[in-house]
Amino acid sequence: MDAGGATEAAAFEAVAVWARAAFALAGESGPRPFLRFQTKQNEFDLVTTADRAVERYLVAAIRERFPSHGILGEESGGLFEDRPWQWVIDPIDGTFNFLTGLPGSACSIALIHDREIRVGALADYASGAVFRARRGGGVVSDAPGWTWDPSVRRGPGRARLFLEFGTEGLDAEMLGALSQLAGIRPIVPRLVGSAAIALLAAALAGGSFIGIGLRLWDVAAGVLFAEEAGLAARWWFGEPPVVHVLVGERSDVDAFAPLVADLARRWEPSARRVLPDGST
Ligand SMILES: [Mg+2]
Repeated sequence: MDAGGATEAAAFEAVAVWARAAFALAGESGPRPFLRFQTKQNEFDLVTTADRAVERYLVAAIRERFPSHGILGEESGGLFEDRPWQWVIDPIDGTFNFLTGLPGSACSIALIHDREIRVGALADYASGAVFRARRGGGVVSDAPGWTWDPSVRRGPGRARLFLEFGTEGLDAEMLGALSQLAGIRPIVPRLVGSAAIALLAAALAGGSFIGIGLRLWDVAAGVLFAEEAGLAARWWFGEPPVVHVLVGERSDVDAFAPLVADLARRWEPSARRVLPDGST
């Protein structure tokens, strides 16, 4: 095994431990309806004590185990460091769901090597299961009785179209895209509120995913899962760490791509749009 392969193998083992630790740390932060939280870009962009506790742990664990690697974390405000190995972490993707007691949140951990996502882990806070993927190695989980069957994705789940928008760019034009998408092929739309969970769902049971105005940490691990399931992924890159991404069966990706490219071009962050009372 070359040096890169050894690093990747070590990372694949490490993320199993780290993802499981995320459950304990998030749980210790307090009962969810009473978790302390603060707002970030707008009043619905939240960070809780659990987000901070999990990210602090992950950053410390990565620094200790892989001191030469770069880290991009949602809550650390870190910039993408130009290093060969780069971790991209989101302690809770779907914080709004997490805080308000809805399923649909995950701790997302990804390792990128030379711009390719190599290892991913998702800790699903609702089910308590950890899923891991390594490029070329499929998907594994510690969920009791769970087995990996990529052929399931060609069943009814394929009709689902998961949509995730960066809230600061969500406007009438973006929402109008739903009717345009439904005109391209029959869809069952789903707005989960966690790109990581949506991508995992598409990987495990089929579907397409369109993420506009997201951040790399929302999708890095999830896209690897989707690709390991045999789905195609297409990226558009905004001002780092903003990304737009389209995932699905190759023919569906080809069909949706022109519209998604257009949405990616038009996406423009504007915090004003999200305020419910029209004030700025
Ligand atoms: Mg988050």
